[in-house]
Amino acid sequence: MAAGRWTQAGGEDSMGQAGERLDLFDRLDIGMLAVGTTDRRVQRVNAATCRILGRSASELLTMSWDMLLHPADRAAQLVTTRQSAAGGQADGQTGHQADGWPGGQRVVRFARPDGSTVHVLATAILLRDGPDGEPYYLSQFQNITQEMTAHHHLRLLLDNTPVALFLMDPNGRIVFTDGEMNAARVDPDRRSTIVETFQDLPVTPMARRALTGERVCGVIEVYSRHFETHMVPIFTADGAVTSVAVVATDVTEREKALTELRIRAAEQQIVADLGRRALTSLEPDPLWTASATAIADHLHTDSVTIHEQHPGHTGPHLAVHVGTPPPGTNAPGELTVAIGPPEHPTAILTVHRSSPFAARECAFIDAVATILAAAAARFQVEREARFHAWHDSLTGLPNRTALLDRLHHALTRTGVGILFIDLDGFKTVNDSLGHHTGDQLLRTIATRLQHAVRPHDTVARLSGDEFAILCGNITSAPTLQTIADRVVTALAQPTTLDGRTVTITASVGIAISSPELADPDDILRAADIAMYTAKHSGRGHHLLFDEAMRACLLDRLTTENDLRHALATPGELRLHYQPILNPTGDTIGAEALIRWQHPTRGLLLPDIFIPLAEDTGLITPLGRWALHTACHTAATWTTGPPPIPPPHITINVSARQLTDPDFLPGLTHLLHTTNPDDRYQLCLEITESTLIHDTAAVTATLHALRALGITLYIDDFGSSHSSLSRLHRLPLDGLKIDRRFISTMTDDPTDHAIVTAVIHLAHTLGLTAIAEGIETPAQLAALSTLRCDLLQGCHLARPGPHLPALQPTTGPTWPASEADQPR
Ligand code: C2E
Ligand code: CA
Ligand code: CA
Repeated sequence: MAAGRWTQAGGEDSMGQAGERLDLFDRLDIGMLAVGTTDRRVQRVNAATCRILGRSASELLTMSWDMLLHPADRAAQLVTTRQSAAGGQADGQTGHQADGWPGGQRVVRFARPDGSTVHVLATAILLRDGPDGEPYYLSQFQNITQEMTAHHHLRLLLDNTPVALFLMDPNGRIVFTDGEMNAARVDPDRRSTIVETFQDLPVTPMARRALTGERVCGVIEVYSRHFETHMVPIFTADGAVTSVAVVATDVTEREKALTELRIRAAEQQIVADLGRRALTSLEPDPLWTASATAIADHLHTDSVTIHEQHPGHTGPHLAVHVGTPPPGTNAPGELTVAIGPPEHPTAILTVHRSSPFAARECAFIDAVATILAAAAARFQVEREARFHAWHDSLTGLPNRTALLDRLHHALTRTGVGILFIDLDGFKTVNDSLGHHTGDQLLRTIATRLQHAVRPHDTVARLSGDEFAILCGNITSAPTLQTIADRVVTALAQPTTLDGRTVTITASVGIAISSPELADPDDILRAADIAMYTAKHSGRGHHLLFDEAMRACLLDRLTTENDLRHALATPGELRLHYQPILNPTGDTIGAEALIRWQHPTRGLLLPDIFIPLAEDTGLITPLGRWALHTACHTAATWTTGPPPIPPPHITINVSARQLTDPDFLPGLTHLLHTTNPDDRYQLCLEITESTLIHDTAAVTATLHALRALGITLYIDDFGSSHSSLSRLHRLPLDGLKIDRRFISTMTDDPTDHAIVTAVIHLAHTLGLTAIAEGIETPAQLAALSTLRCDLLQGCHLARPGPHLPALQPTTGPTWPASEADQPR
């Protein structure tokens, strides 16, 4: 394998020695290569070199060193060679290191004919004793391709890993660094210790712990980047720390994402908390404050304000203010968000900060604003509900609840007066003109009341046609009475509704707070009692409450209760009959008059309980009972032999009965049952006042009664002012002159004239004239002279528990009843 020249040359001085060297050269398992210094041609190779370079010895001997090199390295090699030549550094001493081979060793890349590259660790020496006496390089080759590939791969790995690697010696000095070294700014000169490099950064205490043998890991922040750092101590066999392996991964992005997540979670928490408060808050202010504070704390703002916008108010009103706003508006970090619909927001949220807001921060403020908008909508609904709960929807006035509340507060401050107002006859307006007109009237009244009171008084609508006025600072009655006068006058003014003129009056009760009347309910009740009393003592005026009224009312309530009981208890209610006579003294019939045998109070006359029955509606069952009893009794009336005509049974009927839908059917049935053979003549007396409210219903009922064959009289004629022109249009049979005129007719010429006129009127209209309450022979004589048709009175006969006998009776022998006292 060796060149002939080398064999010859070797044999020149000591053949044996040269042959041995050759032999050794060839047999060495390590690659050997001799190259000329000038032409750099391969002079000699051994088998190991041939294997390494993938070429035969003969081929190699034709090639130069440069040709063998990896093409990429050839140029560099040339430069090195030239530099060496120019510097004249070639060392002629045998065994000296060759120039350009620092450390005597170099990794050289060779190109193999198969195209692959082989890495060789080459060691070269310059020898002067070449075969031609020329110096030459003798290189030793070691194939390190495998190691180099592994190293290359490792390099790739290290160069491309985001991980920083260090090895620290026991003093904390960095003995090896790689990977993302620069990221951590480790001193690449490896002179300083990690403690010196990072000083008081969190990596220092970690390193100290690792150097004492603890395995530590954690995320540390170094120069605004985050590293997940593991420090693993490496021990000697006897347990001392020889070094610490440090692996640091840059997790800045991950930490950023985590921080972002944490902020998001915090924001979500804030929003959720505010959402909860928005659902439970009773008042907007605490919620506004909590929200503004949350924004200020979370976003580190200079100021947060919330301005409420109230419809109808001139400008926005500052509801909440947190922090100090910068001077002048529209600062760079100012953000304004509408709470509620942008066209008409409930409030405006303004946030100031010197630094601008990030998109995420804007989204957070928006989320808070959305919650506040939902809460504002809820507050609005609740405000409206509260308004409705405290106000009357028809008139917009405060209602009873509101009045009692204000009364409660007013009572804690000053003397208080209450006017309780109830309209007289409002039901009639409602029934006759319809509810729409009724509503209109109530609104008109509400307005009039508001004008009649003092500026700080409260007008409230309690129910239907009941109003109340709360007057503060009241110590005595006159002020209240003045207001009450104004109220009565104001309401009595005629009102035009739907083209009709309506006049309505009001009854007013007045109560003033006192030690006995210190409770809102009590004072309102007292005013109510006074109103009730005013109404029952003639309507259209006011009365001041006194305790006697309460007793009176209590009495009425007891009586009412007892009357209900009486209606259900046979024997308590009775009828007495007062005979009615013709001018010749014949009893032609009787008027049934109700009596009440009260279990404790004795026999009660109708004046005590009929008005009460009228007020409470008990008159309907009471009247039904009277009709029923009278008709059944009349059916048993023993009449004499004909030609005496059927006797008259007269029964009083109240206005309320006439409008009772059961009245006519009930009466029809009653007549069928008790009077199929016309044994008696039924007469009904209707008071004149009933006819004042001339409703079509009353007229129709009168016609129906007439059709049933019933005789109809007007009772107490002359006591009210009924229209005379209407009289003849109504289906009437007679007029019963009010007994007040009879009692005075013999003394008072005017009353005598009235009685005369009424009898004359009756006769002119073809009606029967009846006189009642005749107490003296003079009255009887006068009425006889005036040709009054029928006569009734104590002078003739008192009411008694039985139907009178139907024989004619005369003069002072009229039977007197045991039960009735003269009146
Ligand atoms: P009225 O219909 O005018 O009845 C006549 C009243 O005059 C009766 O009073 C009678 O007792 C009384 N009286 C009779 N003769 C004389 C007399 O010579 N002098 C005086 N001063 N009075 C005399 P009474 O029974 O107390 O009834 C009072 C009123 O009660 C009645 O007045 C009537 O309006 C009403 N009333 C009585 N019973 C009923 C009834 O069943 N239904 C209804 N709706 N009202 C009744
Ligand atoms: Ca009567
Ligand atoms: Ca009468």
